[in-house]
Amino acid sequence: MIRDPRKAAVIAIGDELLEGRHADTNSGAIARRLADLGIDVVEFRVLGDERDRLARTMWELCERYPLVVATGGLGPTLDDVTREAAADAAGVNLVRDASVEAHLRELFARRKREFAESNLRQAELPDGAQLMPNQNGTAPGFRVWIGGGVLAVLPGPPRECFDMLERELVPWLLATCGRGEHFATASFHLVGLAESSFADRAGDWMARDANPRMGVTAHQGTLRVTLRARAATRERAEERIAARQAAFRERFARELFSEDEPRLAFVVGRELVARGLTITTAESCTGGMVAEFLTEVPGISAVFREGFVTYANEAKVARLGVPGELLERHGAVSREVAAAMAAGAARAGNARIAIAVSGIAGPDGGTAEKPVGLVCFGLAVDGVVTSHELRFPPVDRHTIRTFATHAALELVWRALRAPQA
Ligand code: ATP
Repeated sequence: MIRDPRKAAVIAIGDELLEGRHADTNSGAIARRLADLGIDVVEFRVLGDERDRLARTMWELCERYPLVVATGGLGPTLDDVTREAAADAAGVNLVRDASVEAHLRELFARRKREFAESNLRQAELPDGAQLMPNQNGTAPGFRVWIGGGVLAVLPGPPRECFDMLERELVPWLLATCGRGEHFATASFHLVGLAESSFADRAGDWMARDANPRMGVTAHQGTLRVTLRARAATRERAEERIAARQAAFRERFARELFSEDEPRLAFVVGRELVARGLTITTAESCTGGMVAEFLTEVPGISAVFREGFVTYANEAKVARLGVPGELLERHGAVSREVAAAMAAGAARAGNARIAIAVSGIAGPDGGTAEKPVGLVCFGLAVDGVVTSHELRFPPVDRHTIRTFATHAALELVWRALRAPQA
């Protein structure tokens, strides 16, 4: 049977998935990432922690596809049997890997935790498998040849799974599965643009047969765009990417906030630290989320002065000096009050920059004039105060709060771009 070299299958493993206690989100995310590489996932399987059935499925899928990716069931306890099943499917024994054992013992010693012998199960790999180290947990992954295909096994917890996918599997696939073709990739992170508007402006760059091929995923108000160019030589692939990168940077100059760091708060936070620009936040509907996002950035204490969560009108008056008369005349959710909050926060926090947010996150509290999803922002930069208003779709409360948080960070980011900042 001639097999299509660009097709793959994904297996999600775990009793909790079959019992409906947990949804399988890994498979879709893996499929999206493989699609960036030009590999189409054409089959998903969800299986419990059952050794024989797993081994049979792994064998069957590796007969059919050159690449099978599995996640889950790599824990230290006896009910996790993915390792055993992979060894069965490959027709080999499990062997202990000394480097993994040393790593596990060192990890436990560092965390001052007793090393249970059951952990040694995680140091066992099918004979001949290639190790994929886990930088975020104890269970290593591996790649093993089964029949004509390769099975790549990743841990179940999404953070561990995707980190290993990026660090270990994607580079390996790019290096080995080119089959005479060479690839070059690039990524971009954008803010302030809906996916549909992006698609309109990207035009035929997004065509399925475009080279470079472009993929886009939305995440909490930001977009991640990936490019993958294909060519007969590495140089040609790199030239193709470089040309599209240059055109992309020009077309999306207003929205492009990073080409490596996906978190807007980190891009903003690092720049504030690098430039020594102090900041305070004054939040109502986001309840401290802007402060929370910014304070995730290591080293931010050099510039992050204070975060005010002023929910009640009295708090806006007492903490930020918002005039009561302004609240009465315009209401708490208004550009006027947001501006006064920013001015007050900059003063009270003694900071060069202040960002303020006040909005209606719902589900109640909306009116015809001020509907759920209306969010007002105030921005103070060196005493110059501006105000802004956005209307998000009336989705759920959490989503509105998260969008508002990113919009607040976007305003700070734009202020940092301005020549006088
Ligand atoms: P470890 O035992 O080191 O945590 P593991 O590889 O054994 O890793 P599992 O025990 O199968 O992983 O799953 C651990 C957790 O990871 C699950 O409880 C679930 O929260 C998450 N998880 C597992 N598989 C998936 C999946 N397909 N989609 C989303 N989350 C998953």
